[in-house]
Amino acid sequence: MASRVIPVDPFDLVIFGGTGDLARRKILPALYRRFVAGQIEGDVRVIGAARTDMDAAGYREMVGALLAETCAAEADAATLQAFLAMLDYVTIDARGSKGWDELAAKLRADRIRAFYFSVAPVLFADLAERLQRHGLSDGDARIVVEKPFGRDLASARDLNRGLAAHFDETQIYRIDHYLGKETVQNLMAIRFGNVLFEPLWNSQYVDHIQITVAEAGGVGGRGEYYDQTGAMRDMVQNHLMQLLCLIAMEPPAKFGPDAVRDEKLKVIRALDPVDASEVVRGQYAASGDIPGYTSEVGRPDTTTESFVALRTHVSNWRWAGTPFYLRTGKRLRERASEIAVVFKDAPHSIFGAEAGRHRNILTIRLQPNEGIELGVTIKEPGPGGMRLIDVPLDMTFAEALGPEEADFPDAYERLIMDVIRGNQTLFMRGDEVEAAWGWTDPVIAGWDRSGERPLAYAPGTSGPDEALRLMTRDGRRWREIRP
Ligand code: NAP
Repeated sequence: MASRVIPVDPFDLVIFGGTGDLARRKILPALYRRFVAGQIEGDVRVIGAARTDMDAAGYREMVGALLAETCAAEADAATLQAFLAMLDYVTIDARGSKGWDELAAKLRADRIRAFYFSVAPVLFADLAERLQRHGLSDGDARIVVEKPFGRDLASARDLNRGLAAHFDETQIYRIDHYLGKETVQNLMAIRFGNVLFEPLWNSQYVDHIQITVAEAGGVGGRGEYYDQTGAMRDMVQNHLMQLLCLIAMEPPAKFGPDAVRDEKLKVIRALDPVDASEVVRGQYAASGDIPGYTSEVGRPDTTTESFVALRTHVSNWRWAGTPFYLRTGKRLRERASEIAVVFKDAPHSIFGAEAGRHRNILTIRLQPNEGIELGVTIKEPGPGGMRLIDVPLDMTFAEALGPEEADFPDAYERLIMDVIRGNQTLFMRGDEVEAAWGWTDPVIAGWDRSGERPLAYAPGTSGPDEALRLMTRDGRRWREIRP
């Protein structure tokens, strides 16, 4: 089953921060893969822009070396050269006047113009202001901004104001790369493209929902940044919140940007406030050769959390009484992310108590091995009587679609193509981001006030024991963190 690749219209894409880590690791390889796939063709230009003094030839050399290393297997040398020929570079200062006239002269009025702000958020407003001043913010212009979008409600509002002064909301693409994952979009297809699930998608049939985003690694080279941020800001406010929204939202009238984002916003607004004292926050300890969090970030007294687990409710008619459990952390047992929709027990077991307790669980795996699995109860085969077992109806895409189709584009590939297509559905709107900060801010403020240290947990585990108790006290348990 070959997927259709529909080329996008010709565009000029400027990557501010085109020499930085994100551009090298994600944006440029994503563009290259779309080029190899035939989605980018014709008169397209990708312009790197940063303060480093370099010309177009130097930039092509830099990107060529990078792609030869990271994407060597994906195309031949001629294809790589054809891609590099699209690249250009401007030496520019987001806060100064250098380079702006040169950039304006390079851009063509009859092209889609996209500006990727792959720079620190403190530069967002400067870039937006200069783009407008140089007549580059009109018409088909659009800007792409990265997380972190603020570190609290006040700073997110400032960022939104800084962008809104120069660009309309319809031109602003706030990336949450989780929304670009194939399975996350499939979650919407499963919910709203089938009649099977939607009638059961409520508190009458769903016992609870678990969302786990577990990482096996520690903070690594991001220690300084991470320690200013913590798991609540780095993961819960954006990625986990977005997943929760897609699970809990009402069916939008259509799959369009505002219809979907209106429904997500309603979910965030319906979330019960969570008391800081009820959120389990942890920090990984040292073990053997593995350094603890405090030594990895080089701050023995830091109280920043590397783990969060919490329970919340969506207070509306659909979800009243169904808890949502969220957990995320570093140095956990495995790198594994999933959403599990755990349905209630059958109202009456005709098979008697000895048949045991069986539940349907719909699992949406985000990483690794993206796929969807529905656990159903069947009779154990054989003549041993009516014994029940749970088996997965596995919708791993590799099996259903063939290995080629299951080799999904990276989320960045899809999202950048959506920017060029002008489709904002998978991007966060300003009010959504603010509402999410409005929910997380009081929890973080509560921790700051208490001054308490996070609970220590051993690397390679499921986090602090207290996180397990968060569920066992409700008579439930977390699913095992497994790949
Ligand atoms: P980085 O490696 O530090 O790169 C920053 C880039 O910005 C460099 O190209 C730098 O080049 C340029 N720059 C800095 N000051 C500038 C100025 N005044 N004018 C023009 N260009 C300037 O940072 P990064 O990791 O790529 O991150 C970029 C953004 O993406 C940040 O907002 C980050 O939070 C976000 N993000 C990154 C990742 C990731 O995996 N790296 C993931 C998610 C989000 P010059 O020094 O040559 O100017």
